This record gives sequence, C-alpha cells and structure tokens, in this order.
Amino acid sequence: MEHIGSFGASSYSLRDMQLFRDADEAQLAAALADCVVCRLAKGKRLADSFRARLYIVLSGALAEAGTDGTVNKILPGESVGEQSVLDEATNLADISALDVTELLLIEADLVWQLIDQSNGVARNLLRLLSFRIRAASALLRRRQKLGEFYRQLSMNDGLTGLYNRAWLDDMLPKLVATARRTGGPLSVVMIDLDHFKRFNDTHGHLAGDDALRRAAAIINAALRPSDFAVRYGGEEMVVLLPETSDKLATLVAERLCLRLRQVVIFGDMRLPMPHLTGSFGVATLEVAMDELQLLAAADAALYRAKQAGRDRISL
Ligand code: GH3
Ligand code: MG
Ligand code: MG
Repeated sequence: MEHIGSFGASSYSLRDMQLFRDADEAQLAAALADCVVCRLAKGKRLADSFRARLYIVLSGALAEAGTDGTVNKILPGESVGEQSVLDEATNLADISALDVTELLLIEADLVWQLIDQSNGVARNLLRLLSFRIRAASALLRRRQKLGEFYRQLSMNDGLTGLYNRAWLDDMLPKLVATARRTGGPLSVVMIDLDHFKRFNDTHGHLAGDDALRRAAAIINAALRPSDFAVRYGGEEMVVLLPETSDKLATLVAERLCLRLRQVVIFGDMRLPMPHLTGSFGVATLEVAMDELQLLAAADAALYRAKQAGRDRISL
C-alpha cells in the first residue's frame, strides 16, 4: 500500500462519507487533516497492518469476499474496519482492491476521539454497525437454510423423496432402542414391487421411474405422521411403524397393498400393464431381536408373499 499524502492536502471532500454525514464539516476537516491517504493497487489485499484502523474508500472500490463465495463491494464514501477499531479483533484479510483504490486511513485513537467529540459521528457509526449486524444475520439465516437443504439431500432418496438407506441405518437402531426402553411395539413392512423388471422392459425405464415415484408417493401418503417410508434399494421400500403391534401393522400393510393395486399408472387402460402391485412382508420386534434381525424377518415374510403369488402381504 502506497502512501500518497495527507488528507488535508488532497481534494477529497468529507461530504459524501457515510460516517461523517450531518457532522460538523469544519471541525472534522481539521481533525482529519493529518490522516494518511493511501493507494492500493488493483487486486492487492488490505491486510497490511495489524493495527486497528478505519479505512474510508475515497475512489475505486474494495471487495470483501464472503466464505460462501459472495462478494460485498465497498464503494467510495463507505468504510471498513469500524468493528476492528471497536473490539480490536476483526481482521480485514478478505478485503482486496477491485480497482486502483484510494483510501483514507484513520487510526483507532482518532476514531475514538471523533466519537467523543461528535454525536453525529457516533450516531453514524451506530447506524453502520446496525447495518452490518443485519447483513450478518441475514447471511447466517441463508447459511442455515442451505445447511438444512444439504442435510435433507443426504437423508432423502433423489428419485422418490423417501428417506434413504443411510437414514435407515442411522434411525432404525434408535427406534429399536426406544422400543426397548419404553416397552412399546415396533413393526416394519418390507415392500417389493411385483414384476418390476417386466414393467421396465414393457414400458421403458423412464416410465419405470415414474411408476416407482408414484408407488412411493402412494405409500407415503397412506401413513401416519409418526411412520417413516424409506427407499431400501431399487424397487424395494421399507415402512417403519413405531408404537404399532403386528395386528395393526398387518392392517397397514393390507391398506398399502390395496392402494397400490388401485392406482392407475397410465391413464390409458388399454395398455397391457396399467397396474402396479407390490408384495409386503410384515415383522414386529421381538425381545431377542436386533434391528438386522427385524429387517431379516420382514424380508423373509416378503419372500413368502412372493412365493404365494405376489400382490399380497405375509407376516
Ligand atoms: P419380483 O416380482 O420377483 O420382485 O420381480 P421383479 O422384476 O420386480 O424383481 P427383480 O429384482 O428381478 O427386478 C427388479 C427390477 O427393478 C429390475 C430393475 O431394473 C428395476 N429397478 C430397480 N430400481 C429401479 C429404478 O430406480 N428405476 C427403474 N425404472 N427401475 C428400477
Ligand atoms: Mg427387488
Ligand atoms: Mg420386485
């Protein structure tokens, strides 16, 4: 950063500076006359000093890079470094010149002096800080939302929107532990769409995807808010039913089986396979079982449903 003279000797006016708006101009001009004016070459960083100071952009522009790729421009009349003056902590490492930029440097001591002398400066500073806080909390909220978005993405299956296998691996042991602790029942239903390979072969893979999405939506819609539908793999799904006995789980599976059978995948009923069916295996947690054995029991029941002719449930 190159020193190019004192503010008193420069032709810059105080009038357009946010920090000095409505303050006594003559008094300020006298106080700032000896302050240094610097020139920062395009692309150069501002972080050349460990001392807390305030910088006011006189000409050119600075860019402050946010951690999320956003760039905040600091234009003539605007300042940076107020916070570092106040708390001696903030660093300016991420600020660089967008263009050849001239800056007015005001050392921390002088900033404090100005605050003591001028209510206008103090008021402007408070207003600036309030803007900064507002912008920072907006950024935080955006980040929170983004974090939530990615968390969802990692838990949900892209095609069907149901929970995915990773979620199941994480959640099922917890549900089993809760059932153990409370002594309440826990049931699972394993679902496999029938002759889905044939469906794909007949109607194409895209129609297959569509049918899978529809099937997932129908199953999801037929559940209570406390139940969970998971895409287990390919055309297999698992439904978790906390606080649900084997009797009730059987009723739920019957209902799902019926809804699936009734859904019209294609509007055109003349097509050879307009209907989609599934086979359902129901299992309920028993005392000696862990989560893997619970899933294995549901899978064994599903196998029996397939053997018995598909489009049905088995316990
Ligand atoms: P079964 O009644 O015995 O279950 O017969 P099936 O044809 O459904 O069984 P199989 O396991 O042999 O075939 C599963 C088929 O599901 C094969 C695979 O292409 C299809 N499939 C799995 N995942 C998807 C998917 O995401 N989209 C589409 N379109 N098809 C899928
Ligand atoms: Mg299968
Ligand atoms: Mg199948």
